[in-house]
Amino acid sequence: MAVAAAATGATRSHLSKGRISRRPAVARVRVAVRLRPFVEETGSTSESSCVRGLDSCSLEIANGRNSQETLKYQFDAFYGETSTQQDIYAGFVQPILRHLMNGQNASVLAYGPTGAGKTYTMLGSPEQPGIIPRALKDLLQLTWEEGAEGRPWAITVYMSYLEIYQEKVLDLLAPASGDLVIREDRWGNILIPGLTQKPIASFTDFEQHFLPASRNRTVGATRLNQRSSRSHAVLLVKVEQRERMAPFRQREGKLYLIDLAGSEDNRRTGNQGLRLKESGAINASLFVLGKVVDALNQGLPRVPYRDSKLTRLLQDSLGGSAHSVLIANIAPERRFYLDTVTSLNFASRSKEVINRPFTHKSFQPLGERVKLAQKESLDPPEAKRVRSQDELEDGTSSPEPPPSCPKRSPLKQLNTLEPAVQERLLNLDRILDARGSQGTSILSTPRRERTALEKALKEKDSEIQRLKEKYKELEANRLSQRHKELEEENGSLAPPCPFPSQTVPNIKPLNRVVPFQLIQEQTTSQSKTQVLQKENRKRKPEPLRGQQEEQAEGLRTTLALLQVPPDLLAESRRKILGLLNTGSAKELRRLQRIGEKKAQLIVGWRELHGPFAEVEDLGLVEGISDKQVATFLKANILSFAAECFSALPRRDA
Ligand code: ADP
Ligand code: MG
Repeated sequence: MAVAAAATGATRSHLSKGRISRRPAVARVRVAVRLRPFVEETGSTSESSCVRGLDSCSLEIANGRNSQETLKYQFDAFYGETSTQQDIYAGFVQPILRHLMNGQNASVLAYGPTGAGKTYTMLGSPEQPGIIPRALKDLLQLTWEEGAEGRPWAITVYMSYLEIYQEKVLDLLAPASGDLVIREDRWGNILIPGLTQKPIASFTDFEQHFLPASRNRTVGATRLNQRSSRSHAVLLVKVEQRERMAPFRQREGKLYLIDLAGSEDNRRTGNQGLRLKESGAINASLFVLGKVVDALNQGLPRVPYRDSKLTRLLQDSLGGSAHSVLIANIAPERRFYLDTVTSLNFASRSKEVINRPFTHKSFQPLGERVKLAQKESLDPPEAKRVRSQDELEDGTSSPEPPPSCPKRSPLKQLNTLEPAVQERLLNLDRILDARGSQGTSILSTPRRERTALEKALKEKDSEIQRLKEKYKELEANRLSQRHKELEEENGSLAPPCPFPSQTVPNIKPLNRVVPFQLIQEQTTSQSKTQVLQKENRKRKPEPLRGQQEEQAEGLRTTLALLQVPPDLLAESRRKILGLLNTGSAKELRRLQRIGEKKAQLIVGWRELHGPFAEVEDLGLVEGISDKQVATFLKANILSFAAECFSALPRRDA
């Protein structure tokens, strides 16, 4: 009879009782940073480094925005320029291998920009072997010992090797096969039907399969323009165990060894065409990886594993059942500076991830399990839920974290609140945190205070909304009044109202970027007569004048007619920037022209690259065109100026 396979946190003693542990052990994703030495071939040995190790866990990097400051990061481990392959393997990777023998999963991910040492760390060279050969040797040794005749379990080790290139899963052991699908079986195990898996009994067996497969990848690299640094290479090692005596249980542990694609910002490198498309796909995967990590950190009910192939594959290896380690590789050269900061920011989020290991065990013969899994893969349940970290295999709800567990998101305790309120509280909490607030975090204040705060927030919201409406109304009146005056003064020369039937903020979108400074300058310097002249010129048919330019001028004219003071515009701009830099995806959607997709893109970009320096930087976000930035600015500037205006003490009667 089939028994649920994935028992959370179960160990051998649990297995013998055939019970499922309800309180899983908690395992974080551990994060190490490895700084490689200067590489001579780049001729940069005389350069000074912009990164410096502080101790075995922390490092600092120059602050690009303020030369007086450095940014300090703390990780589970820091390996400096002089660290050896053995140091990093023995200190960070070797300890997780034993979990495979208990039927648990483990994964090692190398992250970082191209050239920072990911492949060196994972693969190394014949003289300096990296994590992959070392881990394989140790794992095979372990399985020989544990699976020897006379021991209770017979053990078989299998390997698969694949790459994810442009969101396609390609089997490197069978390069002719096309894109493979990733499935999840009823126990939450991720599998790839049709993926080649080779039994390996010795390290020589491993090399026999791995080396030609790696060459497949290298051939691709020369032909396809550095393809290897643009795909994620995933080596999967499966340890299958069968009990030699009744009740003949079986269990399986998976080890993923992943050399991730380069995390460099490809917009900066000026890639075009195929390269840009590739980088889009790479960044999408790495971007979703960041989102998954965030969702896990915050204990959000939905973890977006399915949003990319990489995270789908890692679903049972990140935040779920596995012991995961992430090694962020960084380089000392100054030309890597921005990518180094990005990698450190990414890595410093990841170290908060909580994993809940469980043993993949089954009383069911493996053959039957495979059949079932294949059946499932052919007929996947339509509305299968994405498993959240807190959903245990036996369907129980999440237990309280043990005392050793790092601080969990207080949202867990606030789940009775409306989601919008939850999100805003979380954000406020973060802002307070970022400012180094000494006081109690909002989310840990007593219920009554919290309710008062929420109420105040809601009131403020509706007040802002009311003032916005009022301002729109006032400005519409003022605009029509102004036109009446202009008509009286200029007779037939008077320009028509640019947007006669609309309220002011609903201006037709711009089709090209108009630097906002320009708008401000022109607004203040133009006299009424100039405005009229421009308007009149605009009405003449001028074939050289594009529609976009006319629209830009429409905005300038509108602003001039409204006589919005430059300081109000500057304030409005500052507020938009503030919201772009601190708003959650939900808050960003309050901005006009920002839908869910763009909000997500903005939050993702911000997390990878830090805050926007100015509103126009929105154009740096992949997926947001300069044209859309112009439309965005036009749609938001006036409504924000209106908000600022309402907040000012009334000057006129
Ligand atoms: P990536 O895979 O991240 O693109 P590589 O692993 O190919 O980067 O490393 C780039 C270069 O730096 C290679 O020549 C590699 O040998 C060298 N390198 C990387 N890390 C180290 C290290 N820790 N010690 C010495 N050389 C290194
Ligand atoms: Mg590489």
